[in-house]
Amino acid sequence: MTDQQFSIEQRIEKDRIDNLYQRSKSASLTLLVCSTIYILVLTKRIPWQPLLAWYLVLLAVLVGRWLMVRFYETDQGRSKSLSFWLYLFRFGILAAGMTLGSLNIFFFPREPLSLLLMAIIYPLGITIGAVTMLLDFFSFVLYVVTVMSPVAYHTILAGDGFYSGTGFMACVLVLFFLKFSREYNNNFVVTTRLRYENAALVEDLEKEKNKLNNRLGRILNDSSTEIYVADAETLNCLQVNQGAIQNLGYSNDEFTDISLLDIFEDLDRHSFTELIAPLYNGRWEAIVHNGINRRKDGSTYPVEARLQLSTLDVPPIIVANVQDITERTEWEDKLIYQANFDQLTGLLNRHYMQSYMHSVFTRAKRNKKKVALLFMDLDNFKNINDTLGHGTGDEVLKQTADRITTLLRESDTSARTGGDEFTVLLESLEENSHAEVVASKLVNLFKEPFIVEGREIHTTVSVGISIYPDDGESLDQLMQCADMAMYQAKEDGRNKHQFFSHKMRRSSEEQMLIANHLRQALAKDELSIYFQPKIDIRRGRITGAEALLRWHSHELGEISPYIFIPIAENLGLIDEIGNWVLEGACREAMRWQELSSEKLQVSVNVSPKQFRSGTLLKAVANSLELSGLPCEQLELEITESLLIQESGQPLTILETLHGQGISLALDDFGTGYSSLSYLRRFPLRVLKIDSSFIRDLETDQNSKVLVDAIIAMAHSLELEIVAEGVENEVQLDFLRQRNVKIVQGYLFSPPVPAEKFRSLLKK
Ligand code: C2E
Ligand code: CA
Ligand code: CA
Repeated sequence: MTDQQFSIEQRIEKDRIDNLYQRSKSASLTLLVCSTIYILVLTKRIPWQPLLAWYLVLLAVLVGRWLMVRFYETDQGRSKSLSFWLYLFRFGILAAGMTLGSLNIFFFPREPLSLLLMAIIYPLGITIGAVTMLLDFFSFVLYVVTVMSPVAYHTILAGDGFYSGTGFMACVLVLFFLKFSREYNNNFVVTTRLRYENAALVEDLEKEKNKLNNRLGRILNDSSTEIYVADAETLNCLQVNQGAIQNLGYSNDEFTDISLLDIFEDLDRHSFTELIAPLYNGRWEAIVHNGINRRKDGSTYPVEARLQLSTLDVPPIIVANVQDITERTEWEDKLIYQANFDQLTGLLNRHYMQSYMHSVFTRAKRNKKKVALLFMDLDNFKNINDTLGHGTGDEVLKQTADRITTLLRESDTSARTGGDEFTVLLESLEENSHAEVVASKLVNLFKEPFIVEGREIHTTVSVGISIYPDDGESLDQLMQCADMAMYQAKEDGRNKHQFFSHKMRRSSEEQMLIANHLRQALAKDELSIYFQPKIDIRRGRITGAEALLRWHSHELGEISPYIFIPIAENLGLIDEIGNWVLEGACREAMRWQELSSEKLQVSVNVSPKQFRSGTLLKAVANSLELSGLPCEQLELEITESLLIQESGQPLTILETLHGQGISLALDDFGTGYSSLSYLRRFPLRVLKIDSSFIRDLETDQNSKVLVDAIIAMAHSLELEIVAEGVENEVQLDFLRQRNVKIVQGYLFSPPVPAEKFRSLLKK
């Protein structure tokens, strides 16, 4: 059994027995010496033979006890139980006690007195010497009883008062010792128990602490965090964890030759000392440093290092907790990139532009320089996207971005600020004309076609330019101005640049004003429908009329549909207004029936936006039903822009309308995309030659050729022709010669109010 396996009680018991055996050596020796002297004294009075015999017995007993002790010591009391050793000890005590007690029998009741006294003092002394066995109360009692009872017997019963008194005195002393032994014994047990309990407690605590230390050590060692313990003076590594070994690629041994400065790439001795200075003066407990670590192979990675100083250690040490933040940094970079860059083209995005502008303006203000903002919008990008697919569209945008970047200088900034919108910033502008140079270069970038999957794609760009601080002092203002300028460029025919002018702002302010009033125009009954007759020139008769919307605003006066129709489209009012026209035109056309023998047709202009909302078919059906007008007498005028929309929706709607017998006319033919393919594809009945060609017929040879071509094409496609804007006889003759049947124009009548048209019919 090991010590740990004993319970505390057992250990106290063992201690007690250890103690008894240990003391019995010196006790036996003392006993031997005292007894030898005593025997030698007695031989002067008593015959030596019995004394020798007794002495030999005593020797035997003492040798026996000595052997007992030897046996106990070599064995350490392990082979036998504790109670065995206790009984053995008590047996030894009994033997010794009886031997000593028997000595009295030899000389009692012999004289003289001095001898008797000695006979009493000797066992008494020996009894006092029995303190060696104080730890075992039973042994003590055994010893005292066996040694003292013969003495007590002889002295007390001797009949002499002196003897009896001495005997009693001896007995009282013995009783005192018995009591003392008892207390001593208890004390011993209590203190020993306390000692052992404390020891056990300390041991437990120690164990717990070790366990904790081991666990902590293991975790720290295994963690991916790098931990360096370094000499604060030399900065040499004293100890590192597994994480450091793995991340840096040095072996454990190599680390002892390496200093923290070898590891922290971005720090030298001076900067390191400065960095950790607050640790020495106690201002900070730890310092966090974001830096770069260098591996054994020379590669580096970003880290966050937490440095602590311990001055309790000798020498003082620095503990560095280093976290590899590569992933975190990459993630942060990615987030920053995503937040500030356009994913498709890699150019900056609107968000970045916004935050960047502030510093641009501050710089410009300080240097008293101007900044130009160039806002670019591709001219027919929607068309590319719709006809060739988004993949091609994306590729065009990417190539556009590439072309822009190669054109610009480093001090210029470019961004993609919308679908097909790009913004270019020119800083430190000396003169406004410099912006113009760049703008025309940007426009020229699109001269060469884009090549996507072997296919040539032609597109152009319109650029609007605004200047800081002339046109505005915030990004929003400048953007707004550049945007207006860009729209102006588009209106002027696209593929060009345009500076912002204050006239534009005025017109945009006007538009705002118009928009505000237009919202209430219907409710305020400010709208009306005019009718312009269509004339069959051979028969000289009215075949019908085009319904044209008029707006007389109480506040703003007469406003052209060329101005308010686009605004109504932008505001989303066109459906409501368009349906109102449809209904009114149909109702009016019903009133013509009584006035003419002809089946008069009414033509209503329909905006492409009305096809998008999906309510057109319902509105048409509604108008026809409410008015009672036969389908054949309604004609809808649509524009070319509707036909080039790639989605199948307009075609389906047009086919439905055609199926119902409604006539479809293509308005303003020749101004838009003029492609034969859609003329074939759509169920058109009428082609309206745009008034601009008719107007130029007298002066422009080209227009003549073009009108000739249009007429020939229409005839071959079996489309009826209506010539708009006929103002004089020359134009009329030209058309008549070419077999154009129906014309419309001031030559016959401008658009007139409904009543007036009715009176025209009567004539
Ligand atoms: P549009 O469809 O091309 O209409 C013909 C325009 O030419 C009309 O202008 C008409 O007044 C004008 N006009 C007619 N004859 C002559 C002529 O001999 N000489 C000249 N110089 N002009 C002539 P208006 O009424 O100002 O309408 C302008 C445009 O507004 C229309 O062009 C049409 O696109 C649009 N619009 C008018 N009413 C409506 C409508 O109810 N709905 C929609 N969606 N658009 C409409
Ligand atoms: Ca028209
Ligand atoms: Ca027209």
